[in-house]
Amino acid sequence: MINFPHEIIYKNTRNAYARINRDGIVIFTIPTRLKSNEKFLTEFLERGEKLYQRYSKKEKLKSTTDDELLIFWEKLSWSDFFDNDKSYSKATKEKKLKEILLEYSKEWVDKFSDELCVPYKSLAIRKMRARRWQCSSKQDIVLNLQLVHLPQKYIQYVAAHECAHLVQKNHSDKFWKVVEGLYPKYKEVRKEMRKFILE
Ligand SMILES: [Zn+2]
Repeated sequence: MINFPHEIIYKNTRNAYARINRDGIVIFTIPTRLKSNEKFLTEFLERGEKLYQRYSKKEKLKSTTDDELLIFWEKLSWSDFFDNDKSYSKATKEKKLKEILLEYSKEWVDKFSDELCVPYKSLAIRKMRARRWQCSSKQDIVLNLQLVHLPQKYIQYVAAHECAHLVQKNHSDKFWKVVEGLYPKYKEVRKEMRKFILE
């Protein structure tokens, strides 16, 4: 019995895999040759169910209407930012959110890079669909625009994480020591952050 939203696709692939799509549906891709292997199917679907249970415990970003903005986990109204401008536009909204995140995160990135005595080259905010919060290389720091929606401590943690990469490229023990030096509560905050689902 499968009690969760799912879809099974039989394909001529080598391996079976299960994933959750943006709508929270578990998509099973199963090699055609295993179609009538009941033992395999039962076990595989159980794995999918575990995946779904983990997913259900997660927190989706609060949904907003056109004239609302979700900033630092608080719903604010369009008029708080655009006084008399009633004309709603997705682009204007995005621009505003970028500005807000840039201003806030810059404060922290500056602070952390000062503490490390390592300058960064640039800080930019980009809209990313991938399930990650940042995407930086070398001394350029790029943050995911969706961070703007989260409580501020997560932005602080991501800033510390990215600044630690200014001195340590990989996620080695050394790296996490640097993160801890900048942001002592990182372990707890990092763990909590996994509950959020990106759109
Ligand atoms: Zn990293």
